[in-house]
Amino acid sequence: MQNSVTPTHCPYCALQCGMNLAPTPDGGVAVVERPDFPVNRGALCGKGRTAPAVLAPGARLTSPLVRSAGTLVPAGWDEALDRVAEGLRRTRAAHGPDACGVFGGGGLTNEKAYGLGKFARIVLGTSQIDYNGRFCMSSAAAAGTRAFGLDRGLPFPLADIPRTGCVILVGSNLAETMPPALRFFSELRENGGTLIVVDPRRTRTAEQADLHLAPRPGTDLALALGLLHLVVAEGRVDEEYVRERTAGWEDARAAAMAHWPEYVERITGVSVPQLREAVRLFCEPEHAMVLTARGPEQQAKGTDTVGAWINLCLATGRAGRPLSGYGCLTGQGNGQGGREHGQKADQLPGYRKLDDPAARRHVAEVWGVDPDSLPGPGRSAYELLDALGGDIRSLLLMGSNPVVSAPRAAHVEERIRSLDFLAVCDVVLSETAELADVVLPVTQWAEETGTTTSLEGRVLLRRRAITPPAGVRSDLEVLHGLAARLGGESGLEKGFPTDPEEVFEELRRASAGGPADYSGISYRRLAEENGVFWPCPAAPGDGPGGRGDSGGRGDSGGRGDSGAWEGPGAPDDSANVSPGAAPGGHERARDEDAGRTSQAGTPPARDEDADSTPSRDEDTRGTPVRDEDTRGTPHPGTPRLFLDRFATPDGRARFVPVSHRASAEEPDGEYPVLLTTGRVVAQYQSGAQTRRVAELNAAAPGPFVELHPRLAARLGVRDGDPLAVVSRRGRAVAPARVTDAIRPDTVFMPFHWPGEGRANTLTNPALDPVSRMPEFKTCAVRVEAVKPS
Ligand code: SF4
Repeated sequence: MQNSVTPTHCPYCALQCGMNLAPTPDGGVAVVERPDFPVNRGALCGKGRTAPAVLAPGARLTSPLVRSAGTLVPAGWDEALDRVAEGLRRTRAAHGPDACGVFGGGGLTNEKAYGLGKFARIVLGTSQIDYNGRFCMSSAAAAGTRAFGLDRGLPFPLADIPRTGCVILVGSNLAETMPPALRFFSELRENGGTLIVVDPRRTRTAEQADLHLAPRPGTDLALALGLLHLVVAEGRVDEEYVRERTAGWEDARAAAMAHWPEYVERITGVSVPQLREAVRLFCEPEHAMVLTARGPEQQAKGTDTVGAWINLCLATGRAGRPLSGYGCLTGQGNGQGGREHGQKADQLPGYRKLDDPAARRHVAEVWGVDPDSLPGPGRSAYELLDALGGDIRSLLLMGSNPVVSAPRAAHVEERIRSLDFLAVCDVVLSETAELADVVLPVTQWAEETGTTTSLEGRVLLRRRAITPPAGVRSDLEVLHGLAARLGGESGLEKGFPTDPEEVFEELRRASAGGPADYSGISYRRLAEENGVFWPCPAAPGDGPGGRGDSGGRGDSGGRGDSGAWEGPGAPDDSANVSPGAAPGGHERARDEDAGRTSQAGTPPARDEDADSTPSRDEDTRGTPVRDEDTRGTPHPGTPRLFLDRFATPDGRARFVPVSHRASAEEPDGEYPVLLTTGRVVAQYQSGAQTRRVAELNAAAPGPFVELHPRLAARLGVRDGDPLAVVSRRGRAVAPARVTDAIRPDTVFMPFHWPGEGRANTLTNPALDPVSRMPEFKTCAVRVEAVKPS
């Protein structure tokens, strides 16, 4: 183990706060402030602060488990891996490769996500792979790709937020989901900017807003259209920008003009004066942003809903301009990187499309296989889970807990129970792992090195700080072991190294030239520069495998002594090279945000990010780094996208005409109330980790049903009384929490718990036609007082 502190990042959300880990006398680690990471400057929420608790032997798995006579019992690694290989082999032989499913997670490192996608496609030969990130931000990804030609959660750093004039934050309660991020919005207001929060609840985030709009759940699309209508009617369209940088305005304009403010008020419940005030606040400053999160995205019309907010940005000339634009606040720790490297049903590494022949050729060459042997796109996450026990007979699941986190969870649980074979790789015995035939206990964040990509598109290095318990192995070792067993004499396992840095080097080659180009990023640079924003193409002669490759030492991710990276070298001086116009290309320009050189433990005088004023060297715009002066100069990464052109063939952003439509399930006589779901600050996602932390459990011990006093009075319930919430999919019971912070027509439940309070028993799996996102955020329910028996 290390004697000194190890700089790394939190294992939980997409903010990926920096933290230092210091050794403790009992062989564990303690979290120590890491002020040099500019995003959180040392601040952490309770989840990050207490994360080491999940490393303790009592909280996590330390031995493989195999099912014997109906019970999970400890087993050796060879026996467990043999059982998994045999289960998958038998399914493939009996039903074909597509009968084997693979389900990944947005918490997996880039190396694991890459390895899992490769494993599915060239070892199992299955098309049936997707991941839980589909449930996170896929609607924003689809809408961003449709409008801009490329999706990267935030196309600008968080540090731009305090310097813009107005932010509309749609469906994000970041005061609870990522509290350290709140300071960007506090600074925005201190600087004279305004914050508009759109949320059906008066959340802790909404309480900080200058204007809170509380639409009925599922009507964000109409709200955005109403705002765009007023932008047109009040003559606030940026005509020159629309003419020069966009396409499709007339159709989008016509669609918006059909949404009169009074009509929008009737649909959303947001008054016309509030709509007018929002337009004034958004349009008057020179710069403004719209940021969305799960509220508008987790709808069966999520792609169009996000598209409507993007249209608002485009009509007002906000996107692709300094200190302005549209961005998505991705949720899971590696939700961004997880969708870029091949565990998504329709994608290959580098954010390439699986049905693109050129992309298939490129990745197949890196993998050393015939492009024609790669399967095509498979089912999306919910569709895959829904097919379990049907077409899909066996499942390998890594880093996800769908029994709690999937929509219509009781049905998903039933489908999982009907499988012929289930193998789960996890850190803890989650509710899904409890149903497995084999459970493989794997290393976690502080025990392994690997990269993640934050919601800013900043690739980061998580470092190993502690030796894992003897009974656990890394996910990469699991893939290697299974490839060896399933590949026979072919030597397939050689394509699945267990050293994360070796995997990253291959990922760099696989991503080279793709939209998410990581080829210019190395572990050494990540350590020295505190992260690098993609796209970051390799400089000529300096690509993966070439000169200037990682000078760092990786680790096996398995047992052994500390492998914390100790890379040499002074930081490079590439700060004067700036973001590219289109992904895959890059230009010389000035951008102080790039090439940061702060070292661990050296607090900057100020946030370097915040000091940067994005600008461009007009003389060199569009000049690739090919000349003698710059040959071999590392690309600095791309903090800001789209400043010159969008990533579409003609460089123009696309308006998409969208119109209001009802949610998949609207209230009726039988189910008269709307349910919306979300998170609380002390728990994370399905709670598989955070429910095992005593301090977090004490702060948030169980689910609740938030309802308005008027609804409570109608039901005759008081605060704390048990309430049953019933939808067409099932029933959940939890104590009432009566508050006027929610609309009278809506109830709210957090979704972190299993059992009778499982909120996802109720949620609707109706899918967005483009993103295949389920409608987590709204469904019709009835609420009943539970009579004492
Ligand atoms: Fe930061 Fe998110 Fe971790 Fe909290 S959970 S410390 S906000 S990365």
